[in-house]
Amino acid sequence: MAGYDYDLFVIGGGSGGVRAARVTAALGKRVGIAEEYRFGGTCVIRGCVPKKLFVYASQFPEHFEDAAGYGWTVPQASFDWKALITNKDREIARLEAIYEKNVKGAGGETFHSRAVLVDNHTIRLEAEDRIVTADQILIATGGRPALHPALPGHEHCIMSNEAFHLPELPKAIVIEGGGYIAVEFANIFHGLGVKTTLVYRGAEILSRFDMDLRLGLHETMEKKGIRILCHAISEKVDRQSDGRLGVTVSGGEVLVADQMMLAIGRQPNTENLGLEAARIETGKTGEIIVDDYSRTSVENIWAIGDVTNRVQLTPVAIHEAMCFVETAFKGNPTTPDHDTIATAVFSQPEIGTVGLSEDEAGKRFRELEIYRASFRPMRHTLSGRQEKMLMKLVVDGTTRRVVGAHILGPDAGEMAQLLGIPIKAGLTKDDFDRTMAVHPTAAEELVTMYKPTYRVRDGERVD
Ligand SMILES: Cc1cc2nc3c(=O)[nH]c(=O)nc-3n(C[C@H](O)[C@H](O)[C@H](O)COP(=O)(O)OP(=O)(O)OC[C@H]3O[C@@H](n4cnc5c(N)ncnc54)[C@H](O)[C@@H]3O)c2cc1C
Repeated sequence: MAGYDYDLFVIGGGSGGVRAARVTAALGKRVGIAEEYRFGGTCVIRGCVPKKLFVYASQFPEHFEDAAGYGWTVPQASFDWKALITNKDREIARLEAIYEKNVKGAGGETFHSRAVLVDNHTIRLEAEDRIVTADQILIATGGRPALHPALPGHEHCIMSNEAFHLPELPKAIVIEGGGYIAVEFANIFHGLGVKTTLVYRGAEILSRFDMDLRLGLHETMEKKGIRILCHAISEKVDRQSDGRLGVTVSGGEVLVADQMMLAIGRQPNTENLGLEAARIETGKTGEIIVDDYSRTSVENIWAIGDVTNRVQLTPVAIHEAMCFVETAFKGNPTTPDHDTIATAVFSQPEIGTVGLSEDEAGKRFRELEIYRASFRPMRHTLSGRQEKMLMKLVVDGTTRRVVGAHILGPDAGEMAQLLGIPIKAGLTKDDFDRTMAVHPTAAEELVTMYKPTYRVRDGERVD
């Protein structure tokens, strides 16, 4: 080991890579980490964090509207897109600096460079034209938005990366995709006053979520004024003589917009990384294949996070990093646990979910009890807003274990985080029933739905 420059070299300074580098360096190991763009990676620079700041920005018009019912007169509001971008960029730069500082503070060495494998112990740092060697190597290069080369006019389209730096707020936008990134951006742009159309080839948005949430969100988004075209694709994108875009969708309709955003999936960053030189196996979409411990096909090379295409979420990348450090540096082989991951969609209204959807649970359990409540949250009473909140618990009828919880409405993401604990712990509906409500809250509904709304037997609803 002493013959190498580093005990660990990490390629990629995003959520997973930075965590692994920092924690390993804090163990007293010699650690180097290279980042080709900006420390913090997708989540901090052009993912979760700036997106959530945009979500907050886009919610204000509804807050202003709702204020009237509570006695407030809000003068005509105006919005400055450039001010939002400047303030967001300032915050992102602050976080970026903290990420790098934390690695250095733990004793790690940081490089602002693209890193490429030369062989299974050797890395080339391209910006410095320098070669370094390492005993263990961790690949945490993440992913990027998938392109759509088959779409005529795709060169006129933007991806999520560009959406964070548009010079001007468009008047109208078309977004292609039905996953959480497409749905969140549709709500962001609509909230900021942009005429928004979502084009999705599938039958319903947000394919892996509970159907009640998908239908409920779809309906509410349409009521707000977002146009959603399902079973539809964009067939071509033309630049018109006035500079605007004409997006021809299935059926021939031409949607006129200032921007067209593609959010059709993400692609692992594995090209030209020297994987062949080190003989690292990749899968069909270019993802790095790893075993249960995040080890690649090469003994001393590991991979975590989005580049492995397991579950593409920041807390998952961080968890995989912590398990990697346990396995590779603490003599405690630990496999990441990908079961029952609580998650949110920062749509408007928000989605919070954990565990199995009703459909998935119906395939695993013979009998289900479904507890479902749809109601107007108290905050919408005086405001007059007609939006309903939906809460749903999916319970295994035999053991009474709560196997899924699904919420649509204000603060659903915050609730999903807390519901993740009892559901991960395998608690039963009786435990929920024994829990005292917090009144008056929306969340109290989760512990006061005493009677099943309906039952499901062998996948069929029985009342
Ligand atoms: C718009 C958007 C919104 C999102 N919202 C959420 C959310 O709300 N919640 C959530 O949990 N997740 C969210 N995600 C997903 C989350 O950002 C990722 O799951 C997470 O960042 C993955 O971390 P990672 O370490 O695997 O990769 P990344 O964070 O992508 O980091 C990889 C880093 O490696 C660098 N790199 C690549 N190749 C090289 C090389 N050869 N040499 C040096 N450096 C290299 C890249 O520049 C990058 O900085 C969102 C993603 C997007 C795009």
